[in-house]
Order: sequence, then C-alpha cells, then structure tokens
Amino acid sequence: MTDTVPAEAGTRTHTPLDDLRRRVSGRLHVPGDDSYVPASLAWVVNVPQHPLAVLEVRDADDVIAAVRWAVDHDVRVTAQPTGHGANGTLEGVLLLRTRALGGIEVDVQRRTATVGAGVKAGELAAALDGTGLTFLAGSNPDPTVVGMTITGGISWFGRAYGLGSDSIVSVELVDGLGRLRRLSATEDPELFWAVRGGGGDFGVILRMEVALHPAATIHGGQLMWPVERMREVLTTFRDVTESAPDALTLWFQAITFPPFPEVPEPLRGRSFTSVAVAHLGTREEAEQLLAPFRAVDGLVMDTLGDVPIGQLGTIANEPTDPMPGLQRSRLLDRLDDTTIEALTAVAGPGSGSPLSVVQVRHLGGAFTRTPEGAGSHGAVREPYSLFAVGVPAVPELVPVIQTVLGRISAAVAGATSGRTLLNFLEAGEDPSLWWDAATRARLGRAKELADPLRTIVSNRPTLVDDRPVRTTPSPVRC
Ligand SMILES: Cc1cc2nc3c(=O)[nH]c(=O)nc-3n(C[C@H](O)[C@H](O)[C@H](O)COP(=O)(O)OP(=O)(O)OC[C@H]3O[C@@H](n4cnc5c(N)ncnc54)[C@H](O)[C@@H]3O)c2cc1C
Repeated sequence: MTDTVPAEAGTRTHTPLDDLRRRVSGRLHVPGDDSYVPASLAWVVNVPQHPLAVLEVRDADDVIAAVRWAVDHDVRVTAQPTGHGANGTLEGVLLLRTRALGGIEVDVQRRTATVGAGVKAGELAAALDGTGLTFLAGSNPDPTVVGMTITGGISWFGRAYGLGSDSIVSVELVDGLGRLRRLSATEDPELFWAVRGGGGDFGVILRMEVALHPAATIHGGQLMWPVERMREVLTTFRDVTESAPDALTLWFQAITFPPFPEVPEPLRGRSFTSVAVAHLGTREEAEQLLAPFRAVDGLVMDTLGDVPIGQLGTIANEPTDPMPGLQRSRLLDRLDDTTIEALTAVAGPGSGSPLSVVQVRHLGGAFTRTPEGAGSHGAVREPYSLFAVGVPAVPELVPVIQTVLGRISAAVAGATSGRTLLNFLEAGEDPSLWWDAATRARLGRAKELADPLRTIVSNRPTLVDDRPVRTTPSPVRC
C-alpha cells in the first residue's frame, strides 16, 4: 500500500483510506475514531483484532469497490459478519462487516432459500416457520448462514441430511480482483467446489442459495441432571447413540452456569450434566428412543417438546451476546469407558472445572457419506466431536482455563482421530488438523483462479501458502 499522498502543495494530504471513503457509501471506521474499537471487536471479544479499518458495507457495489480499492492499494480484505469464528489475523487488513447484505427468499416448491451474506441463522429459521422445511442449522442462531455453512455447517440435522456446505446450491461472490461471479454445479464448478468447505478464501460472498430439507415435526430440548450423574449420563449417551436412527441427534454436555444474577437461581453458579435432543419426528418416537435416559435418577430439568423451526436456538440455549471464550475441539473415533472415565475426572463432580461447557456431539449418519457433487469440506467419518469452552471473565482465568483444556485434550488422547472439524479449529491451530495435503493443494489452485493477488483472507486456516504474493512491504498506517 502506498503512503500518504499529497493532494496539492500547501493543502491537507489524502490517504488511501480517504480514497476508500470516496469510493463507498457504507460507514468506514478508522483508527482514532471513537467507533473504531467497538467496530473492530469480534463476537469472541478476547480475540484481539487490529484491522487497518472496518467498513460496514451497504450493498454489493460497496463490496466490489472495496475489493478493487484493496487491489489498487495492495491491501488485504476479509469479511467477518459477527466473528464467532474470529482468530485474530487482521493486522493491516480491511475488515468488511456484511450485516447490511440482507434478504431472504424461500422457494417452498424448489425447496431452496436464498439469503444475503448478513442473514443470521436465527433469521432464516424464523422465515421457515410453518413451511415444514429446514436448512442445516447449528446450535446458535447468531452466526450468519454464510459464515457457518461455507466451512462445513454441523447441523442438528446433519445426521439425516449431511453437511451444510454440501447443501449449498449456488453462490454469488466478488472475487479477489473485484469481479462478480456466480458459482454453481454448472457455473465455475471448480470454484464452487472450493467455496463449499474452503470458505472465505476465494472472495466476498454476497448471496447464497441453500437446499431445504423436510422437517415436518421436530421434537427437542434438554434433559438435565446434577453433574454427579455425569458418568452415568455419558455412558447412556454412548449406548443410545450407538444404535440411534439418523433422525435422532443427541449432544452430551457438562455445563457450569456462571454466578451472575441474570442466571435463574436454581442454576446460578452450579454444574449439571445434560443431553440436548433434536429429533426429526414425533414425541412418541423420541420418547421411545430416549427411554434409557428416563431411567437415570435425579432429573432436574426437562425442556423436551415440539420445537418450531424458528425456535431451534432454544434447544441448546447458547448465549448470543458477544463474550470472551477459549475453546478446544477434537474428533473422536470412539467413546470407550476409559475416555468416559477420563472426561468425568476432568469435568465431572468434584473436578472444580472452570469450563462452561464440555460437549460431545454425535455425528455419524449422513456426515460419513459423500454425496454426488460434494464440496471440498469432505465427509466426517468420526462418530463424535468433542467441544469444550471456557469463559475467561477476568484475564487471570486464561491460564487456568488453558490448563484444563490441556487436560481435556489428554483425556481424549486415546480416542481421537487427531482431526478437528474446520468450524471448530482454534486460533492459530494447524490447518492439517482438518485438511489433507491433496485437498489443500487443490484449494490452493482454486485460490489462484479466484484471487491471484491474494487480496482476500479468510479467518479459517485453509491453504498451503496464504502469504501475500506481492513484494511490497506491509501496509503502512493511513
Ligand atoms: C458456541 C459456539 C457454537 C457453535 N456451534 C456451531 C454449530 O452448531 N455448527 C457449526 O457448524 N459451527 C458452529 N460453531 C462455529 C461457527 O459456525 C463458525 O465459527 C462460523 O464461522 C461462525 O459464523 P459467523 O457468521 O460468526 O462468521 P465469522 O466468524 O464472522 O466469519 C467466519 C469466516 O467466514 C468467512 N465469511 C463469513 N462471511 C463471509 C462472506 N460474506 N464472504 C466470504 N467469507 C465470509 C470469513 O472467512 C470469515 O472470516 C460454533 C461456534 C461457537 C463459538
């Protein structure tokens, strides 16, 4: 990027960011503005982000103008709608906030929905209420459909319908040279393959069309016991999931609620163990499958009921407001007695675990299959995914939580395949925890097609060599 540019002798100087401001209509936040720090914050607020500037794009023209400006000034660009997946690699990068790219079109006949890049998962879910159809929604309504889906999309309904990324029908994006492109199975198929898993490395997505799937009735919610029941609940979870039909998805959880006044008194500051349930079917079918859990004594909460699609977020009831977080995730080949014992020792009764959630998601079913014309993400052969999160409310908690996350890794060391789902990689983790070398090499070739100057950066580590190709020094401050 060039340094400040004299306008006319004796007058103020113009910077490249002044040039950007002239080219776009959205709000630009630059260092020194009161709004810069709040605009730069990721949803995971403890991930430090120091972008060159933050642009709240107003429309597609703003995206095109911003990418072309970045090419002209040798700056890198990223789209980060909310920052649930932030990983702190934004030094000197122009950060695009895409929330204004709205719009939801549902075609019940064709079973598709087209969403703007700013549409949140909860907003699409609400738009599908009453249609008897669902998209491949995850646990939290706050991430965008685009952000969650392009790097996998691990849904409550994935055991029945597969990865969210394999349900993408078409994508409209602005590539790394500022060109508008439409991707589908027949239009730019190699790039279409790459985006469906490789995510935000190939351009800034404006709109995305996804397939919808039958969900006439969803029965779901949580069963919760005191944490003293953890071993028994986790063992029952293992036994039930070993023979569960693809219509049933269960997640095991050990949860510690914070001691905050807004948490209801019976839960405040206490630890529990729970099973979260999403069943594509009736109450009667679900209850039959869940009978072994009904035999576990001490149930303190039962929120099972029919769940309208617009209320999917109530199943896990995860926080939607920005918060600090440290996480660890590993894919598991099995959930044997040794692993159950080890996890119970780290997060169960008397452990004093500072983690908010230790979760084991049941995968299997359609996650293990590769549909015709699948994208780059790839099937998930492992039957379980472990996900643990701690909330460092004060900085002193960071080393404490990191130590216990290390113990969680050790607890599953004998059962993990060594892989981690792409959507759950932590900041700075090695991309080879998900990608194999051949897929990364092919993604690298797709990157050359879409973004030869490497103007676009994703905050998921995907490519073999994501360094800028230009030799000019790092962008100077504007
Ligand atoms: C508590 C918790 C629960 C979660 N549950 C699930 C779950 O159930 N299933 C699941 O699959 N994942 C889950 N995740 C992971 C989450 O889906 C990913 O982190 C996802 O990327 C977040 O989406 P976002 O909209 O917040 O994206 P951001 O974090 O804002 O962006 C993520 C990246 O996506 C890319 N991107 C986003 N928008 C665009 C665009 N318009 N154009 C190009 N690239 C773009 C960019 O590379 C960006 O850096 C969970 C995460 C947390 C913390």
